[in-house]
Amino acid sequence: MPSAGRTVYIAGAGIAGLTLALALAKFGASVVILERSSTVTEFGAGLQLSPNARRVLNQLGLDRQIKAESLEPEGIDVYPFGAKKPLITLALGDTVERRYGVPYAVMHRGDLADLLHRACRRFANVDIVFDVSAKIRMGDADGLYFRKVGTCGRSPGRSAVAALSAACTSRPAPSTLRFKSN
Ligand SMILES: Cc1cc2nc3c(=O)[nH]c(=O)nc-3n(C[C@H](O)[C@H](O)[C@H](O)COP(=O)(O)OP(=O)(O)OC[C@H]3O[C@@H](n4cnc5c(N)ncnc54)[C@H](O)[C@@H]3O)c2cc1C
Repeated sequence: MPSAGRTVYIAGAGIAGLTLALALAKFGASVVILERSSTVTEFGAGLQLSPNARRVLNQLGLDRQIKAESLEPEGIDVYPFGAKKPLITLALGDTVERRYGVPYAVMHRGDLADLLHRACRRFANVDIVFDVSAKIRMGDADGLYFRKVGTCGRSPGRSAVAALSAACTSRPAPSTLRFKSN
């Protein structure tokens, strides 16, 4: 993958953005995540980590941390409405691990986001810029634009450039980032 030497900009420090950042950083790319919130926050409760997702996270070196912070249920009972006995029990636990080579787990969404955030912070080539909203515009002025949350007017604004410059000490911060589709 020809990532080394490139800077990749990711809109959003959610579960997907942070996972992508980790993967790209491991290939040597410089990554800048633009997050419109002021912290990494994940609303909601539990999240299922199916074996395909878990395999990717394991490949990113997160197996031990996920094991420590998740639960690996033996199965799921499915009840018809109002019934006292389950209609069916889906076997998970060892059954899934034998079949797919990795376990099925559940964990708190916020814990996964936090774990990914901590992993990203261990990479010098990943910057996360908070309070910056990103927008991709197609047409005459193709590009990725960003603006600092809370400022008025259309991007790119001076304050956004300043925010990005301050956070990305290792690389210059252009006000407009063009991309080419070919
Ligand atoms: C009810 C529900 C249950 C689910 N259960 C599961 C499950 O059990 N297992 C599973 O694998 N998946 C589950 N999913 C799907 C999973 O939550 C999503 O696939 C995942 O959260 C997507 O991650 P994301 O990073 O793309 O988006 P998000 O987690 O939504 O993060 C987006 C981030 O981008 C930021 N942002 C948005 N726009 C901008 C912008 N313009 N500029 C800068 N920052 C921006 C936001 O502030 C946010 O931090 C569930 C989804 C829902 C709704």
